[in-house]
Amino acid sequence: MDPQGVSIKWVSDAKERGVLADRDFAEGNVIFEEQPMVCDQYLYNKDFFPTCEYCLACLESPADMVKRLAGLPEPPHLWGAEAVPVLKNVPCEHICGELYCSTSCRDKAWAQYHSLLCLGPHPRDDHPLLEIRQEWKSFHFPPESATIGLLVKMLAMIAVTRDEALFDHFKADYRNETLHIVAKFMDEQFSDRLTKFLRLFRDLFAPHGLHVSQELFDKLLTIVSLNGQGIGTSSFEAYERILRNLSAAAEEKAGSPEALAVTEALDQVDALREAIEEHSDDFTHAEGTGLYRAHAMINHACVPNAEIQFVRNNATLRVVATRDIAKGAEVTISYMHFDGCESDGEEDEDEEESDHEHDHHGHDHHHDHDEHLVDVDRRREMLREYYLFECTCDQCLADSGAGKAALATAPGSRTVAGSSSSSSSAAGSSSSAARR
Ligand SMILES: [Zn+2]
Ligand SMILES: [Zn+2]
Ligand SMILES: [Zn+2]
Repeated sequence: MDPQGVSIKWVSDAKERGVLADRDFAEGNVIFEEQPMVCDQYLYNKDFFPTCEYCLACLESPADMVKRLAGLPEPPHLWGAEAVPVLKNVPCEHICGELYCSTSCRDKAWAQYHSLLCLGPHPRDDHPLLEIRQEWKSFHFPPESATIGLLVKMLAMIAVTRDEALFDHFKADYRNETLHIVAKFMDEQFSDRLTKFLRLFRDLFAPHGLHVSQELFDKLLTIVSLNGQGIGTSSFEAYERILRNLSAAAEEKAGSPEALAVTEALDQVDALREAIEEHSDDFTHAEGTGLYRAHAMINHACVPNAEIQFVRNNATLRVVATRDIAKGAEVTISYMHFDGCESDGEEDEDEEESDHEHDHHGHDHHHDHDEHLVDVDRRREMLREYYLFECTCDQCLADSGAGKAALATAPGSRTVAGSSSSSSSAAGSSSSAARR
């Protein structure tokens, strides 16, 4: 089922499916929001951030989060923070240590995958799930950009539903290039350990009646590598978002006590954010990765008309128009952070400090307003390398002298049906927090 406001349709033989606007959207409009089909927190990140195992909501209050991340002796007083919903810490009923933000998330997790994965209070040391996590952590260090846990959950969902085609909605038809793209996404070292991981996965799921074939394993790996979207959540940022909305609303009442209080609170937020970045380095947000059905169908454009945001302190993904989009036009995002920056001149300066993009691999990027679109050949090379398609977006055609001629003979063009905003590895960024 398509989200309201858009349709997933066949666009062209080159692009295959894409997301089309069912109505006009103005710049700044929310095009749609969607929940992940499955998501999972990065493993080292999970050691630091208590989150809902199902929806990745940060379970700390904004003040508690700041206290810990900025290394303060006491939680600071945050004006207006009571507007941030207080989340419960609902433990798994089987005392395995997993926490949820609500009984609803707990029950959904249990029904979809956790009944197979729950370790209970006293797991044996050689439990395959623990071995899988240990093995992953032995080479995949922060800043994290992928997690084996997503694959674990996907296989559990397949075991529960007995439907090996459960994730076939996501495009993954790249047989020859599977290992290449998986190595890019999951880490080169992961490729060396494929056999070991496959054996551990078989040990984990055999008791549940699922044989993890090489074919199924490769398919799911390719799906997560090409479609996984980095997620960043923070209750402190949810608080900041509330303040910014209040600030915008209070603009007419400049000088009023409330307007002054909001301005002061925002100044405090800026100072606290600096303290957090100094004290916590790579761990400023709860982070993970997820698969989103509609978002995964959004095609790339080097100068896109939409972007991805996380504004709800959970894994709810929001697609927002970054320019006006007419009814019937294709919605596009950038899979690479450096493009799309050339037209940011009119962006709200207040947002600059906290405006990050989320890329596909879970890295984030400060919007660099001075950054120019990377040369078309370099752009295309990166997209080929990381996403396996030849970009024939309007910008690329305009930028390449032979553009129009090349289009007629473009080999294959886009073969990737989806995924997300960008590949920071491609762009040379090593920063990790997927924010907002
Ligand atoms: Zn939750
Ligand atoms: Zn449990
Ligand atoms: Zn392009």
